[in-house]
Amino acid sequence: MNIYATEKSQHYLAQVTSFIHDKILPVEAELLAENRRLNHHQDWTQWQLLPHIETLKRQAKTLGLWNLFLPDSELGQGLSCVEYAPLAEEMGRSLLAPEIFNCNAPDTGNMEVLYHFGNEQQKAQWLTPLLSGDIRSVFAMTEPDVASSDATNMQATIIEDGDDVIINGRKWWSTGLGHPNCQIMIFMGLSDPDAPKHQRHSMVLVPINTPGVTITRMLSAYGDFDAPYGHGEMELVNVRVPKSHVIMGLGKGFEIAQGRLGPGRIHHCMRAIGAAERALSLAIERGQSRVAFGQPIIKLGGNLERIAQARMAIDQARLLTLNAAWKIDNLGVKHAMTDISAIKVVVPSVLSQVVDMAIQIYGGAGMNHDTPLAGFAAMARSLRLADGPDEVHMAMVSRLELAKYK
Ligand SMILES: Cc1cc2nc3c(=O)[nH]c(=O)nc-3n(C[C@H](O)[C@H](O)[C@H](O)COP(=O)(O)OP(=O)(O)OC[C@H]3O[C@@H](n4cnc5c(N)ncnc54)[C@H](O)[C@@H]3O)c2cc1C
Repeated sequence: MNIYATEKSQHYLAQVTSFIHDKILPVEAELLAENRRLNHHQDWTQWQLLPHIETLKRQAKTLGLWNLFLPDSELGQGLSCVEYAPLAEEMGRSLLAPEIFNCNAPDTGNMEVLYHFGNEQQKAQWLTPLLSGDIRSVFAMTEPDVASSDATNMQATIIEDGDDVIINGRKWWSTGLGHPNCQIMIFMGLSDPDAPKHQRHSMVLVPINTPGVTITRMLSAYGDFDAPYGHGEMELVNVRVPKSHVIMGLGKGFEIAQGRLGPGRIHHCMRAIGAAERALSLAIERGQSRVAFGQPIIKLGGNLERIAQARMAIDQARLLTLNAAWKIDNLGVKHAMTDISAIKVVVPSVLSQVVDMAIQIYGGAGMNHDTPLAGFAAMARSLRLADGPDEVHMAMVSRLELAKYK
């Protein structure tokens, strides 16, 4: 098993690192403050994009630091999951960087669905503009009316009608729905209640401006609307799209979900490790430079052990993540199910602990948006629910473990 960065990966890592260091981190606090000033309100129709972020995106694209997540040499940079891991980690150190390299959730997961499962027409219409960064997308699976951690509960309907399908239902927590450039959703719904359990659901491409789609509100997460992306709630009433918008065919929803969520989840974990590294270095810098009771804060109480625990936890989380990445590359997503579920539980929890420790060492300033710590804390908490709650992933790990004893 080789989980060390290849020459190609190191080449991109050096470029991504210096881009983040030279161009993003110096303006990060200012841009985040500007975003809050312009967009910290619920009316998503008024949300604005920051021109400087759009400029940085163009620069990253020109340098070929674009779509690094996609393991295709023509459409992305042809990096494997192991090769992409250190890059995603580096991006995760900043709340802004993933988008600047067109490597942000949920668009990466949606692009992967289209790349792996879309037909040529679907790719031309939606994958191409997503890869170029011209439009944004959402993945609409979770529903307010049913426990959506059990995806077989999904009750929004997709009914065949001649050459079309008609869609009805409510969705919420659709991340990205408030983005001014959001144009397309991948909608998951019930297409055949009588089919075997995992063939009842389908995924359909629905343009956001299709008649019958009404966005009702944006949900805040820990008081933050995550503008300009947002987490939207919407109602779909008799929404009609051509059957050609169904991905792979009716009944294939779970098959696609398995393919999408594997890479999507591991990318979240890679970025979360980067966030934990940044939180740790912020804690150390602050703890060394601020003095209380005659000593640098880092030396007071159990702080040095807390730093050691953070270092050990992050390194364990990284190794577990690289192990999952290697299995995805070499054995395929289906043979990495335990590992993907394991990191989806372990990494957000490590990030939570490290960020919480860093906020405590920082004192009151850690709670404010002057540093990215408060944003990382919200991200860590969200990740314990988004893409499936901890308990569902632990159920998967134990199920696969017990299966060995049959
Ligand atoms: C910030 C954020 C962004 C999100 N983005 C998206 C998105 O883009 N698209 C999308 O479709 N969804 C998104 N989600 C929704 C997320 O995927 C769901 O919230 C999650 O799957 C849980 O579904 P639920 O909220 O219906 O909780 P429920 O299904 O009601 O579950 C509630 C709780 O029940 C417990 N539970 C469930 N199953 C078990 C079990 N087997 N054993 C023990 N306890 C269990 C867990 O503690 C769980 O948290 C997002 C959520 C958040 C917070």
